[in-house]
Amino acid sequence: MVCTIKAGETAPQTGYYACKKCGYKIMVQEGKPVPACPACSHDILVYESE
Ligand SMILES: [Zn+2]
Repeated sequence: MVCTIKAGETAPQTGYYACKKCGYKIMVQEGKPVPACPACSHDILVYESE
């Protein structure tokens, strides 16, 4: 399923987090804070969760 996460929150799993606004993808490791989109500074990202 597709989940959303806000920038600054801890990534629940390692994988790609995509900006909800422009689609830019960022690889984030589990346990690390999810950064804001480097392309457009949007702070809501989406990711695939099983
Ligand atoms: Zn973006």
